[in-house]
Amino acid sequence: MKYCSTRGGSAGVSAAQAVAQGICGDGGLFVPESFPHFSAREIDAMESLNYRDLAARIMEPFLSDFSEREIGACTGGAYTEKKFPGGPAPLAFAGGVHFLELWHGPTCAFKDMALQILPRLLALSVQKIQAGKGAVVLTATSGDTGKAALEGFRDVKGTRVVVFYPKNGVSALQERQMRTQEGNNVFVYAVLGNFDDAQTGVKRIFADGEIRKKAAEHGWMLSSANSINWGRLLPQITYYFSAWLRLLSAGEVKPGGAVDFCVPTGNFGDILAAYYAKKMGLPIGRLICASNSNDVLTEFLTTGIYNRNRRFYATISPSMDILVSSNLERLLYDLSGGDGDRVRKWMDELARTGRYRVGGGMLQKIQRLFDAGSCGDSETKDEIRETWERDHYLLDPHTAVAARVLRRYREKTGSQTPCVVVSTASPYKFAPDVLEAVTGGKRRPDGVFQCIRELSDLTGIPVPEPVAALEGKPVRFSHSCLPAEMGKAVLRSAGWTGA
Ligand SMILES: *Cc1c(COP(=O)(O)O)cnc(C)c1O
Repeated sequence: MKYCSTRGGSAGVSAAQAVAQGICGDGGLFVPESFPHFSAREIDAMESLNYRDLAARIMEPFLSDFSEREIGACTGGAYTEKKFPGGPAPLAFAGGVHFLELWHGPTCAFKDMALQILPRLLALSVQKIQAGKGAVVLTATSGDTGKAALEGFRDVKGTRVVVFYPKNGVSALQERQMRTQEGNNVFVYAVLGNFDDAQTGVKRIFADGEIRKKAAEHGWMLSSANSINWGRLLPQITYYFSAWLRLLSAGEVKPGGAVDFCVPTGNFGDILAAYYAKKMGLPIGRLICASNSNDVLTEFLTTGIYNRNRRFYATISPSMDILVSSNLERLLYDLSGGDGDRVRKWMDELARTGRYRVGGGMLQKIQRLFDAGSCGDSETKDEIRETWERDHYLLDPHTAVAARVLRRYREKTGSQTPCVVVSTASPYKFAPDVLEAVTGGKRRPDGVFQCIRELSDLTGIPVPEPVAALEGKPVRFSHSCLPAEMGKAVLRSAGWTGA
């Protein structure tokens, strides 16, 4: 299996090269040149596999330069009972909806599903292409990726990880998680800007020949843990298969029967993995893309106009506060039949004017697959409170956005197709807002740990161990920098300044 760029500039690289490098030299994203397709019978036969073996089965065709043993070691090491107590991707059922809970890992958000395995894939990839080299993993985060990357890469030999988060753009608990990170190869910076500034800053560092050269001189290459990295997206395909197979086992869906997925979306990585699963033969019906007030994707998927020139809202679902959804580029590439020139023109226009428009044919293709909707903060809080009161099921704000968008979709269409809402974070990661929501605005004490305790007392739902353990941990990182200083921060962290 070979990989090429969404902008046509590089072709025929191995999976190891794509994962190690993270982003293409022409600014595009790596995509596989073809996709494996599983027949209905092959999919049914996956029913008996446990999560690790399922992950290996899904990933193998994409990693043809990895041995079966290597892949098995990666999935076996990532999805352990210790890291995911009770299993990595359980389904819950509440109010007529299935919730795919992807937050039972070490950082309590769905990013763990990919970031527990990416470091293993990446370390192997680097050794395959340039034995003896190390990788500096640059990561921009809207809150959850940063912590999951730090936790996944901590003390992994031959890697260093540098995380940039927007200073006032993450929840108090997310910030605390990152600032208390342990490990000898980790660095954390608050960027004085929003997520898009941080993400653009990281892309700029990749494009900076000087930094690349300095890194090479010291025996390092630059890589990324963001969902621009193929090694992030690939493991996410697995849980869509897992969810569907569980519904099959439970008799909730007939063999070959369609299931809709509603996904709370930011950088378009999670929902793109669902699209790829469908392309690979999984019987997925509609893909419903849910946004918060930063509804740039809702507009795009309904009008074909992508316009980032709009107000940026800091919401209670901060991991979706994104105006430039990087992975949309991969969808456009796929739906345009692999037309890198067309994709490059759209992305150039986006960079130049902040806006582009796709033609009617493309929009039609998109709308055959996707629905979209958005939901503001007050409606999100209503959804959390109503779901708690009605079903005694506690939603985090990101999941609540999706639950509300799905509710409206079902009302509009009358659809009775079984639907899975992808549940992306533990409600305890956002305890102050969730507590305020379930108490109808009555309770929001000072201090995030006070909110956590009160939420647990009120609901009887235990606090996940990694969240509870944070209270006693010392802060190790308190540096901040301007977006323009991010390159310097990398040089300093790596010790390449010569000073
Ligand atoms: C990252 C994240 C999202 C958005 O996922 P994308 O792959 O960026 O679309 C949604 N919810 C939570 C809790 C997240 O951490």
